Amino acid sequence: MALSGIQIYKLLPQTNCKECGFPTCLAFAMKLAAKQIELSACPTVSEESKVALAESSAPPIRLVTLKSPGYEVKAGNETVLFRHDKTFYNKPGLFINIKASDGVAAIQAVVKQADSYSVNYVGIDLAIDGFAVEAGGGDFAAAVKAVRDISKRPLVLINPDPKDLENGLSLLAGESALISGTDLSNWEAMADLAKKYQASLTISAPTLDEIADLTEKIKGKGVEDMVIHIPCDRLNHHLAQSTQLRRLAIKANYRPLGYPYITFAEGDLARVSIVAAQAITKYSGFIVLPSFSPALLYPLLVLRENIYTDPQKPIQVQPGIYEINSPKPDSPVLVTTNFSITYFSIANEVEGSGLPAWLVVCDAEGMSVLTAWAAGKFDSERIAKTIKEFDVASKVTKKLVVLPGHVAVLSGEVEAELPGWEVRVGPREAVDVPAFMKQTL
Ligand code: SF4
Repeated sequence: MALSGIQIYKLLPQTNCKECGFPTCLAFAMKLAAKQIELSACPTVSEESKVALAESSAPPIRLVTLKSPGYEVKAGNETVLFRHDKTFYNKPGLFINIKASDGVAAIQAVVKQADSYSVNYVGIDLAIDGFAVEAGGGDFAAAVKAVRDISKRPLVLINPDPKDLENGLSLLAGESALISGTDLSNWEAMADLAKKYQASLTISAPTLDEIADLTEKIKGKGVEDMVIHIPCDRLNHHLAQSTQLRRLAIKANYRPLGYPYITFAEGDLARVSIVAAQAITKYSGFIVLPSFSPALLYPLLVLRENIYTDPQKPIQVQPGIYEINSPKPDSPVLVTTNFSITYFSIANEVEGSGLPAWLVVCDAEGMSVLTAWAAGKFDSERIAKTIKEFDVASKVTKKLVVLPGHVAVLSGEVEAELPGWEVRVGPREAVDVPAFMKQTL
């Protein structure tokens, strides 16, 4: 039973010490009641209160973590239906399906490619999260070993046969894998295995009522880390069920369905891309792709990154000096901020023009040029500091720096901060930068 804000307040220290980041214990209690913060943010709450508040403070969707040496994939712990309500926290893990029936050599060839696949998007390296090893012909344990010999990423083990499944699980000492294949017929044996090997369980049943019943039964056996399998045979059904489950968990705080979801995207490449995109946005915690395809992965990884960034914290690129079109020592130095859209607008325009340039990106806390300037995060001091910090002078013979047109007002101050440099004011819009470079530099 969820407690109200006032009921929670009565269990807090009531000292208004502000260590949780809120001005009063009452404000904190209201946030806790709305599931927008965790009880652990209050460092002074008593052990008795922790016990009393455990149910109320538990996230509406349980946090499930898959672990392997050096890796972790987390799903759940979400508190809102829509990203703009606050933020989504744990990006859905993307897993590549590996069929035991393909044999060791073919499995290892795919795992090698997928494991090393990485793309850089706005300064962030994006990669897959793990592999889903599927039984159904072939030697299941040999397939698990074949994957593990190449990649240490977390595993989903898809095998409804508890005996055969254990042959694979026993190879993963010290890991927490996700077992897939638990249903009404085998749940007891699967729950025993999950307990023995610290694994999580994927649950499936024909109706939501039966799923709720099953999660309660499995919880009664001492296994709490569960994941609900949402079938994707029909896209509209997948969307409806995902939404219904999420609403029940978050709005109604219905614990028997308060678990992350898994989607097995199936079909041809076009259909898989649609299913997986839908699962990223609404609301899967784990997504299994039927094969490894860079053409499929890149847009999915970028979509996931965009959905799971905090809307109040814009995506940023790393401050530094970026080389565009192999600049030479006499190429111009352009300056901008580290808001990713600003960076890519200018970088793409200059790159497309074929003109070489050094692009210096200042740390403006992820704001665009005008916003950062107005907020005092992009001033002459910061520009000069960045140019010195990244030792731009050692890369160029022509000390010419071009400021964005929107901050023309800073040119005199930048000149004063950077003795020996010529400062020019460029255009306001990125699209005009190539013409400016051709005509005036
Ligand atoms: Fe109250 Fe705890 Fe927040 Fe301090 S940290 S104001 S005691 S809720």
